[in-house]
Amino acid sequence: MKETRKGMLLVISGPSGAGKGTLVSKLLDHDPSFSFSVSVTTRGKRENEIEDVHYHFISESEYDKLLEADAFIEHATVHGHRYGTLKSEVYERMEKGQNVLLDIDPQGARAVMEKEKECVSIFILPPSYHDLKVRLHTRNTEKEEEIARRLGNARGEIAQMGRYRYLIVNDDLELAFDQLMAIVRAEKQNSVRYFPVIEE
Ligand code: 5GP
Repeated sequence: MKETRKGMLLVISGPSGAGKGTLVSKLLDHDPSFSFSVSVTTRGKRENEIEDVHYHFISESEYDKLLEADAFIEHATVHGHRYGTLKSEVYERMEKGQNVLLDIDPQGARAVMEKEKECVSIFILPPSYHDLKVRLHTRNTEKEEEIARRLGNARGEIAQMGRYRYLIVNDDLELAFDQLMAIVRAEKQNSVRYFPVIEE
């Protein structure tokens, strides 16, 4: 049987500390049909991060130039830093039938959902606010002030979960990952992007 596929644009959001990063890495490790859209950011690089793998780390003036050149699908200021999704990371790959994963905040997700009606959107929730606080402290990647800012923003982000097509509560990582894979498997068969050719 012949078949063709259009690439899936998978948008994943969730507050810092919900375990979104772990789920995203697991999906990328498991499913080679997905590639990660590397965003640009003006935030400083963390010790464990790799340039051009986690982000393209750029200066404020480089960011302004990209804005001027209309290089972004969406862009937003998140926790006081600027982030943007480059068109060049997304559209060419999708045209080739590849699936592309965006890990972006709810402001950016909203913009993408308006532009790309067929995108698949998932919001990752923590089991509780208490849990979020504990996870942000134990992962030890942000300073106290940054943690407080991220916790302050979490309620506003969670209030927007109703805009997303799917919700996952990440209480148990294995269960959350199963749910993520179930969504991905079903959406691969969605008739908006899957075109089998039935022969005589
Ligand atoms: P972090 O600084 O912890 O890597 O990311 C902070 C937040 O920015 C996360 O919610 C992440 O999803 C979001 N983010 C990362 N890249 C982008 C992007 O290109 N656009 C938008 N709107 N948000 C992004």
